[in-house]
Amino acid sequence: MTRIRITKEFRFEAAHVLKDYDGPCRNIHGHSYELSVTISGIPITDPSSPKKGMVMDFGILKKVVQKEIIDIFDHSLVISPAYGPEILDHMKKNFSNILVVPYQPTSENLLIDFVSRITSHLPENIRLISMKLRETASSYAEWFENDNL
Ligand SMILES: [Zn+2]
Repeated sequence: MTRIRITKEFRFEAAHVLKDYDGPCRNIHGHSYELSVTISGIPITDPSSPKKGMVMDFGILKKVVQKEIIDIFDHSLVISPAYGPEILDHMKKNFSNILVVPYQPTSENLLIDFVSRITSHLPENIRLISMKLRETASSYAEWFENDNL
């Protein structure tokens, strides 16, 4: 019974803004985010299963992440409620994909959110091992199950 990890990679475009930050990300701007999702499981041994030899069908993993994360965040502006209802209402009236999240939308906090969004949608025998969110060519954040046991 050998456990194997498999990883699926995704890309999405999103804008964010960091309130009160003392760097350039305090201005609304976008990133071409790259998200890697790594899961662990035991390859299916049932010879009658069409998924034999697989930990989890890459296509099913793709569907989960696409529906629960990418479709929601792609081409959105991710913003915290700290800007107040007046600004947020104004933006929502003028733009269709304003995503108000209850946290400062750093890569670190986005990852914590992403983990919670997909964990309950994975099969019982599959463990989410790590997620990596690349914000720029030289900067990324990572979540590891082992760090959070
Ligand atoms: Zn940024």
